[in-house]
Amino acid sequence: MNFTGYFSVYGQGEPGYLDPGLPVAERVEDLLERMTLEEKVGQMSQYVGLFHLEKSADLDTPIDLMADDANAFYPGLSGKGLYDLIGKGKIGSFLHVLSAKEANQLQKAARQTRLRIPLLIGIDAIHGNALYEGATVYPTPLSMASAWDTGLVREIARQTAREMRATGTHWAFSPNIDVARDPRWGRVGETFGEDPYLVSALGVAMVEGLQGDDFGQPGNVLACIKHFVAGSEPVNGLNASPMDVSERTLREVYFPPYRKAIEAGAFTAMAAHNEINGDPCHGSRYLLTDILRKEFGFDGFVVSDWMDIERLKTVHRVVENQKEACFRAVDAGMDMHMHGPDFLEPVVELVQENRLAEERIDAAVRKILEAKFRLGLFENPFVDEAEVPHLIRTAGHQATALEAARKSIVLLKNEGVLPLNPDNVKNILVTGPNAGNHTILGDWTFEQPSGNITTVAEGFKAIAPPGVKLDYYDMGKQVTEVTGAHIEEAVRRSREADVVVAVVGSNSLRYESRFKTNGENVARDNLDLVGMQQQLIEALYHTGKPVVVVLVNGRPLGVEWIANHIPAVIEAWEPGSAGGQAIAEIIFGEVNPSGKLPITIPRNVGQVPSYYNHKNAHYVKKYKWSETGPLYPFGFGLSYTGFEYSDPVLSAEKIKAGEKVTVRVSVSNTGERTGEEVVQLYVRDLYSSVTRPLKELKGFKRIRLEPGERKEVVFELDEEAFSFYNMDMERIVEPGAFFIMTGSSSANEDLKTAELVVE
Ligand code: BGC
Repeated sequence: MNFTGYFSVYGQGEPGYLDPGLPVAERVEDLLERMTLEEKVGQMSQYVGLFHLEKSADLDTPIDLMADDANAFYPGLSGKGLYDLIGKGKIGSFLHVLSAKEANQLQKAARQTRLRIPLLIGIDAIHGNALYEGATVYPTPLSMASAWDTGLVREIARQTAREMRATGTHWAFSPNIDVARDPRWGRVGETFGEDPYLVSALGVAMVEGLQGDDFGQPGNVLACIKHFVAGSEPVNGLNASPMDVSERTLREVYFPPYRKAIEAGAFTAMAAHNEINGDPCHGSRYLLTDILRKEFGFDGFVVSDWMDIERLKTVHRVVENQKEACFRAVDAGMDMHMHGPDFLEPVVELVQENRLAEERIDAAVRKILEAKFRLGLFENPFVDEAEVPHLIRTAGHQATALEAARKSIVLLKNEGVLPLNPDNVKNILVTGPNAGNHTILGDWTFEQPSGNITTVAEGFKAIAPPGVKLDYYDMGKQVTEVTGAHIEEAVRRSREADVVVAVVGSNSLRYESRFKTNGENVARDNLDLVGMQQQLIEALYHTGKPVVVVLVNGRPLGVEWIANHIPAVIEAWEPGSAGGQAIAEIIFGEVNPSGKLPITIPRNVGQVPSYYNHKNAHYVKKYKWSETGPLYPFGFGLSYTGFEYSDPVLSAEKIKAGEKVTVRVSVSNTGERTGEEVVQLYVRDLYSSVTRPLKELKGFKRIRLEPGERKEVVFELDEEAFSFYNMDMERIVEPGAFFIMTGSSSANEDLKTAELVVE
């Protein structure tokens, strides 16, 4: 299908808002004046795409999307019915339109409406536009975070935006800047980890990459910061369960990434499923208006999460019916309803009854229209379907996905096994449920062509040096389905092997919902390897052969036994479509590992919460019968080379509050391989009027060093690094002494300290 642009469709003498020569603000006002109330609320209504109809081509089929999610139904509505709604101007936006053809068809229908307002189309493109078949699938956010590389994240986001625009989508529900503090929660892999500073830096990078300098420029998309706020430490680990959190923790931990992303220009935000201290986020005027808009200066629009306006009644029960749910949400500051039905009519009524001011509706619609004008959708909402294959998963994008996988994989333990030495390792057995499957892709991915993915087993085949014999034992592709017979066979085949590589972990693939052990709505009450994976590893260990365990998983798992017994352990997280190659390259030493943990790995679920930036009292007492403290600390990751750090050197030993200080640290590569290192800087306030974390990340830098090379890394710390909220919730700097700590992880033994006095 070929669509022509604006000028050939609309002629002279058209209404002002259709004139691309006018400033956006004028176009918005002109259009708003012409809109009926119904049309305005239509702009605030977002429905899900019809991709299943694309296949059946039967518009009368009732819509039964995402059949694994009962909430996703549109009872009684057919595809034809949905197109009728578009025709009447009752839909302003879609999510998950999974083909360029469908995007064009929907836009065509929107263009035929009275006011010809194009649709804004959003998608969960959180690590590439991975729901789209044929897209580049980059490592998941938790993986990306392990690279500690803002430039890389910015570039991934930039490429993602280009792929989205090519397919007719303009709005990424990304970045997820939840600060993940509970590994029981299934969505940890969607986040940048547990530290507000790291999450802020990477969240900003992703907003910058998606939106560019101006989201209105070609190839850019809208970012959506989510989920506001604090759903990532639910009371019992279950998605959407309540959050009970002090204002202090909100301000110190959960708010900073939002404030920073808004400063970086994030144009949209999504509310969180959960309540906070009795106030559901979707109906919270405090959060959506007082904090987000008034305090942080947010100047875009807020979208609900899927069906969460409904949940004000059905789950939170703060209102008795849907109309009151709409009232509470819109009145609180909600601008768009994700789901669609049961919103327009009640909101129109609420305005007619003078309960909601029309000005409130106008404020929401203004921002939605501004986005559409700036994105150029009034001029041309269509994409060239024939071009899509040339614009997605380009060679350059694949190269970035591979680079990201290489940088993000974390070597947790290595007792002389890695990299494998082809002189004495001639036979390798590769096995485990995640060796041959697509779990490396992670969540928010739909099925991708096998040819686009390098599994771990395929990576080994491609990378193994000549003379190395590879035996891949495919024991089945589900982590939940390892059996005793598989274990026996793996043990039998290990007899021939010099080394066994066992790839275990979790499954976050939403198109394999029956087998998922991780991801949205997949919480765990323990962190053990599911099924018989632990038995598999123990049986392989007892063969006496050196075993390399590769974890392909979307959240920290309880791998204490493995860490205590297995000589080499790799945390690969979910490294994306090129992940299998990167894992094999690291195991064979073609790539030197350089990832660092963006989240603590606890020993077991009983240690949760175990984040590194805890208070002094957190570990004053100890657990009985087991070790206190994490298995692997935040910021940790090994290399095949060694790095030596100098003491940090400060530009001044004393500064006045408000002054800056420069910190210099020299790092040398003491080994024989080129390596990359993430130099980390933490600050500790020794005494303060309210309790403060023992250390807080305040700077990091990834550097590359040749063997024997030494580099100086310079950090500049400003007031923000030393300030905190006092008892009156004012952000202040108190005079006193601070430790400035630099090194290779957050663990005390990996840090060197200088003391600074703030007068
Ligand atoms: C998730 C959001 C997502 C939305 C749309 C919800 O279930 O919580 O993160 O953007 O669905 O897919």
